[in-house]
Amino acid sequence: MEVRFWGTRGSIPAPGPETLEFGGNTTCVEVTLASGRRVIIDAGTGLRLLGNELQARGEPVHLHLLLTHNHWDHLLGLPFFQPLYREDTEILVDGWPLAFQAMTRVFDDHMGDGFFPVAFDQLQARITFINRVARGPLVLDGVHIQALPLNHPQGCLGFRFRENGRGLVFITDNELGQKGGRPWQDFVHFVQGADLLIHDAQYLPEEIEGHRGWGHSTFAEVVQLARDAGVRRVLLTHHDPGRSDAQVQHLVARARELAAGTAPELLDAAREGAVYPV
Ligand SMILES: [Zn+2]
Ligand SMILES: [Zn+2]
Repeated sequence: MEVRFWGTRGSIPAPGPETLEFGGNTTCVEVTLASGRRVIIDAGTGLRLLGNELQARGEPVHLHLLLTHNHWDHLLGLPFFQPLYREDTEILVDGWPLAFQAMTRVFDDHMGDGFFPVAFDQLQARITFINRVARGPLVLDGVHIQALPLNHPQGCLGFRFRENGRGLVFITDNELGQKGGRPWQDFVHFVQGADLLIHDAQYLPEEIEGHRGWGHSTFAEVVQLARDAGVRRVLLTHHDPGRSDAQVQHLVARARELAAGTAPELLDAAREGAVYPV
């Protein structure tokens, strides 16, 4: 498997000279399986750039789109995803059960809701909601994809991919330390032994108490999870829109300091455009 980040920012796009290194587009991750099949996680504004690249290749687009949840920073890229306007595009949508309805609402509803001039049923692509992964593993070309409901307002799903003994876990919009939420051990079990863990680290430890119940985590909680689950490659994501590149670098330095002793092979912040083998 290979992972490519098209968007790493949380909450709202944050373009500008201060976010060039880690990127300003909201969540969109491309997972390419060994078979060549493409699975896209989330449709944040990074999806527009992926669409441009697919369009430039000129080949018919066939992909799975896994939506973690309905929040707009994870859906905003959809109307600007060029392959949606082509008849030879086929998209199978899976993930959060309410996400299909949510993705249609990003478009016009024929009632003049004013969000976007084009209605969902005017899109040329074939779009099918398969609603599989939330009810049990989704198997694609021998790769097992499992979902875990997370601690997030209105809900969210994390995903684990298993391919030939290799494991990739993608968890965004999750509050590891939510009081009364899913217990810590559930996360340890889900992440256990993964080769790469990608996890939300929007807030600093000194910020989190003011944001309890907002559904996000700190680098310190992610480092602890990686330690408890025996994971040695970790990427932090869903960067706060107010966090400059220098501040993200500082966050990573603090995370590495905290992890010293367990010496992870990789502990970094996800960068827009970066590619990681799993
Ligand atoms: Zn988000
Ligand atoms: Zn969210």
